[in-house]
Amino acid sequence: MLEKKQGGNFSGENVIAEFDRLTRDAANVQRETLRRILAENGAAEYLQGLGLAGRTDPGSFRACVPLATHADFEPYINRIVDGDATPVLTGKPVTSISLSSGTTQGKRKYLLFNDELVKSTMQIYRTSYAFRNREFPVENGKALQFIYSSRQFTTKGGLTATTATTNVYRSEAFKATMRDVQSQCCSPDEVIFGADFAQSLYCHLLCGLLRAGEVQMVSATFAHSVVLAFQTFERVWEELCADIRRGELSPIRVTSPAVRQAVSALLAGPNPELADAVARKCAGLSNWYGVIPALWPNAKYVYGIMTGSMEHYVKKLRHYAGGLPLIAAEYGASEGWIGANVEPAVPPECATFTVLPDIGYFEFIPLRRSSPDDACCCHGEAEPVGLTDVAVGEHYEVVMTTFAGLYRYRLGDVVQVAGFHNATPKLKFVCRRNLMLSINIDKNSEQDLQLAVDTAAAKFLAVEKLEVVDYTSHADMSSDPAHYVIFFELNAAATDVAADVLQGCCDELDRSFADPGRSGAISPLELRVLQRGTFQKVLRHYLAMGSPVSQFKSPRCVARSNAGVLQILAGNTAKVFFSAAYD
Ligand code: AMP
Repeated sequence: MLEKKQGGNFSGENVIAEFDRLTRDAANVQRETLRRILAENGAAEYLQGLGLAGRTDPGSFRACVPLATHADFEPYINRIVDGDATPVLTGKPVTSISLSSGTTQGKRKYLLFNDELVKSTMQIYRTSYAFRNREFPVENGKALQFIYSSRQFTTKGGLTATTATTNVYRSEAFKATMRDVQSQCCSPDEVIFGADFAQSLYCHLLCGLLRAGEVQMVSATFAHSVVLAFQTFERVWEELCADIRRGELSPIRVTSPAVRQAVSALLAGPNPELADAVARKCAGLSNWYGVIPALWPNAKYVYGIMTGSMEHYVKKLRHYAGGLPLIAAEYGASEGWIGANVEPAVPPECATFTVLPDIGYFEFIPLRRSSPDDACCCHGEAEPVGLTDVAVGEHYEVVMTTFAGLYRYRLGDVVQVAGFHNATPKLKFVCRRNLMLSINIDKNSEQDLQLAVDTAAAKFLAVEKLEVVDYTSHADMSSDPAHYVIFFELNAAATDVAADVLQGCCDELDRSFADPGRSGAISPLELRVLQRGTFQKVLRHYLAMGSPVSQFKSPRCVARSNAGVLQILAGNTAKVFFSAAYD
């Protein structure tokens, strides 16, 4: 997606001033937000049954309403999906359904979507943009955004269902905000939205090259999409140059007639000078280092979610971005938004998210760690505390009450309080709570896994100029005792890598996990090296399930229930190693 930047009605100072006001008065704003949520939805059947009797204060709310998970809301949501138009979870009738990514379990969750979620999305976008623009101002120009919407379908009850991002992209409020913040979209976007992913990506890249001098920023919802875009660019750049030279779109790469028509209009005839310039720049790069600033010399930064499961891609992104700043995007979920990154100059690895106190009512379940090194293996739970009562340095599970029918909903994310911005906390995303490799009493989080992979890669792969392109894990309960399986896709064929290098990685991974010295309850770790392109197959599998590429997160831990992904991994295993670390 190529968008014009600037030129609208956007006033960053006003947005920052309002954010300042809200965050200074966070405790009162939270009370007022809860009052509004309960007043608007007091008629909902779910709340009616809990004895609130019209009370909207936090004390009564916590006393009457239980903590809940998606499973608790599912029967209510299913009734709405099937056409129950009575106030089940919200006061106003629901018009759309959102689907979460369903990365781990292979099952997508249904959630309610309404105008309030659109409004809070715009508020988050405007807030992040205001802070970003203060630090890294963009001039008149365009944004090269690798964003994709997914297909919609109609539920049995006649509601449209799609991803939360697609619901947002299709809303009038989104288009108006883009006009204010970034002026209008370039003409082919609407058409590109409907095309298949590979064609869309090819066209995004082509449009970006055609308007190279105007591009002020490069972004995607998730860092993975930017990395994927430039991995694809490495393969197709010569075809892109050929298309620009001829002034004609490749009939093999782009087949959709509507997309061909829209993008051909932008090509507007042969342009051998531009094709030569792009080819010269590409040929001058060493291993594609700094390709983004080389092709888009006026880009000010690269922007997208780079935290949590996206952290793995930051290294590759930095390679493509050369010296351009990488800015971590905001924190939220299909369920609702949580916080904005208001310190854009902080490197993504240290990014925090400042909670907006008026977009939902937030509580935090304190989590006790067994040791200070234990990132998110948290035991024992205490009573949830309010937004302004959290303590710096402590870990919590996020609980949210939203304008879209979720009450005291356990999101399942673990965050750490990094500090405060005025009276509202700055959160560091730590991990998904249920994303744990666990066999015995050991519990390894997403973050533990990433650390283990990084350590093994640094010790054994870096010297051989090898990289882990992507990875995932699985707790194999079928062996006795059970064992961990780690899957690596490398930037080289498994057959071209010396066995002792991979055996070293396998042993190192095993040593990194809990269960020191092996208690006997877990058998040796298994490393499976996958054929190249396996994670592209995993991506296609999710796309076939209806997930859009912009919401895709490589599953870092594949549950037993996720048979589709396990089958792909099994069918593409090139080499298998078992740890000898404790032999
Ligand atoms: P989805 O199911 O697609 O709505 O994904 C929502 C989940 O993505 C959140 O609950 C987080 O676990 C993760 N997520 C979203 N934003 C961020 C972020 N900025 N950093 C880390 N993880 C995030």
